[in-house]
Amino acid sequence: MIIRELKLRPNKKLQEVVNTWLFQLSGVYNWGIRKIEQDAKDNVYYSKIDFQNLLSNHSKTLGIPSHTIQGILIQSWDAWDKCFKKIRKKPRFKSVRNKLNSIPFPDPIKSINFEKKTISLPSLGKLRFYKQDLPSGKIKRARIVKKASGLYVQLTIDSSHQFKVKETDSKVGIDTGFKDLAILSDGTKYENNRYYVKGQKRLAQAQRGKNKKLTARLHERNKNRRKDYNHKVSKDIVSKHSEIYITNDNIKGMSKKFGKSVGDAGISQLRNFIFYKSDNHGRKVELVDSKYTTMTCSVCGALSGPTGLSELNVRHWECACGAQHDRDVNAARVILNVGLGYNLVSKGDKYVK
Ligand SMILES: [Zn+2]
Repeated sequence: MIIRELKLRPNKKLQEVVNTWLFQLSGVYNWGIRKIEQDAKDNVYYSKIDFQNLLSNHSKTLGIPSHTIQGILIQSWDAWDKCFKKIRKKPRFKSVRNKLNSIPFPDPIKSINFEKKTISLPSLGKLRFYKQDLPSGKIKRARIVKKASGLYVQLTIDSSHQFKVKETDSKVGIDTGFKDLAILSDGTKYENNRYYVKGQKRLAQAQRGKNKKLTARLHERNKNRRKDYNHKVSKDIVSKHSEIYITNDNIKGMSKKFGKSVGDAGISQLRNFIFYKSDNHGRKVELVDSKYTTMTCSVCGALSGPTGLSELNVRHWECACGAQHDRDVNAARVILNVGLGYNLVSKGDKYVK
């Protein structure tokens, strides 16, 4: 399943309808949250199927498709389910501060016209969207999403995201960073998208200036840029290598610059993309513990390199064994060694398995 978004060209009427529905559906969601909580006190619990049908007679009065109302009730059911299973905290009510921002259409979508750039949704009829290509496949469901930059239709498409991969037995280790997002043991470096880096700086400024609208827009734009780029990088890596070992370390250096959450999110996403693309294409992929990877010489295994953050400025170094190292590429090579099952620190002058 892959998810793609079409940006809508809404007229005033559609915007009004969406706002009304979001308001009414917030009420439905809150009703569901309250209902489950109160009935649980009396030891009454619902199956998902039973619960989604509780408001089946409200479709006409609200003028909202019954499956959309069901979709929202499922969201409240899922929220409590995660809480009961201790995966999430107790669900919060939807409100001005915690807005409902999307409307589910749980059924397959058949009528989409790329020439006229229209898509039909139940009760809303034909909606116009900006030109965009979609991967081929059946559209399993849709969702209208309201964002700072406008209205979107999010489509879940059944297509397994295939691309051509090289016949190869190449094995590669990957270290991650901020200036270079990914550094490979074969010396390849994927520099972080410079628009993204610039965007992060502007975002930080907007946050300091407390400009909420601008912050939301910049945040969304950066998120999209990051995602596109992570798709590109992960596709490239998976298509070229058959065994992939990735560091489990997220932060290295970037936490200092923009705060931990920023770098973390981008790298976790890249890692997720590499994992699912590897699965789809029969590649092997593993996470590797990255302790001492910077300090260790990838040739002889001596702990002769720079130490972590305190010597972040040391980009190149020479080991006592004579090997010349680029700091990051060396770390990626150590990651590969660990992934392949060699002991991190050598016995004598050779790695042992
Ligand atoms: Zn060495």
